[in-house]
Amino acid sequence: MVAFSVIPIIELSRVCPGMVTAMGVSMGLTGAAVMSKGTIEQKERWGLDLLTMDKIGAWAITEPDSGSDAFGSMMATARRDGDEYILNGSKTFITNGPYADVIVFICKLDEGNPPAERTVLQFVLDSGMEGLEQPKPFRKMGIHSSPTGMLYLNDVRVGVDRLLGGSEEAFKGSGGRDASKATFSMERTGVSAMALGIVDRCLELSLEYAREREQFGQPIGQFQLIQLKLAKMEVARMNLQNLVFRHIEMAVEGEAIDFAEASAAKLYSAQTATEVALEAVQLFGGNGYMAEYEVEQLARDAKVLQIYAGTDEIQISQIARSLLAP
Ligand SMILES: Cc1cc2nc3c(=O)[nH]c(=O)nc-3n(C[C@H](O)[C@H](O)[C@H](O)COP(=O)(O)OP(=O)(O)OC[C@H]3O[C@@H](n4cnc5c(N)ncnc54)[C@H](O)[C@@H]3O)c2cc1C
Repeated sequence: MVAFSVIPIIELSRVCPGMVTAMGVSMGLTGAAVMSKGTIEQKERWGLDLLTMDKIGAWAITEPDSGSDAFGSMMATARRDGDEYILNGSKTFITNGPYADVIVFICKLDEGNPPAERTVLQFVLDSGMEGLEQPKPFRKMGIHSSPTGMLYLNDVRVGVDRLLGGSEEAFKGSGGRDASKATFSMERTGVSAMALGIVDRCLELSLEYAREREQFGQPIGQFQLIQLKLAKMEVARMNLQNLVFRHIEMAVEGEAIDFAEASAAKLYSAQTATEVALEAVQLFGGNGYMAEYEVEQLARDAKVLQIYAGTDEIQISQIARSLLAP
């Protein structure tokens, strides 16, 4: 079952990592957040439509002044007002944000206490709610098939039926942060499957080109420097495949991947996909820099893997923190 869901990610990432990002955020993050943390009513109301892609989802934590320090600098708030909550805040770089039907909005409960002590809550919103604005997408370097944009919430009034889990209790203490971290782990393991797709396609294209393109009277694949690139791409492909197989096996066994391992896998996968895609551009020479060649798109698309779902630098500090923990 798990393998069936990973294989389309790998296959689609070979041609369109942007589409995988958009679908992954909708089903894998937003849908999974509702299905894992929601009440039965919430799963029925939003979860099923997200999983079947009848509705598009967005998962919103990042803010203009709160990226890597997602919890520490978070400004978005929920204030209690009778039996309801009033939500305010701005989110940025939100995948599917401009067109999402359903949004998981992450914010802090403002009880007049210092921001560092506030409980992190998640609310489920529907497009079109009063006070919710979904502006048009940003223009960006790659993954053009994945719309990315801001969200503005201005006094959006919600009932407790929209509080994920149906009660604040589950989120008290570090509960809200832990719930979001579980989503980060899922997102990070997904990056390995995407990286495998990108690397696999880059290798396939590079092999074809190395056989066909001739210089100095012979195919460029005869030059040892080109052979080195191909051999390194194959090693990268094998390593990524092994990582993905491990994630599948763990999922089949019902074992959850821990946060540090998910971070390590994400760091390696993102760097590897970017390096391989850039080497593919190099192997194609001038053609590789031209938009009509697929490797140009793959190189632009691969780069985002080092930024979203936590930057390389953040993965490194999370791996090290876990290694150094007593
Ligand atoms: C295409 C795209 C789609 C995205 N989709 C979503 C989405 O669906 N939902 C969502 O909530 N977010 C999304 N994001 C946001 C993404 O998760 C953030 O961009 C990312 O976490 C980095 O935050 P930032 O951009 O604010 O960079 P910053 O945190 O400002 O970082 C700037 C630089 O400083 C470095 N840095 C920061 N802190 C440290 C540190 N402690 N040690 C060393 N270096 C550090 C960073 O690594 C980076 O190099 C998306 C981003 C992109 C580009």
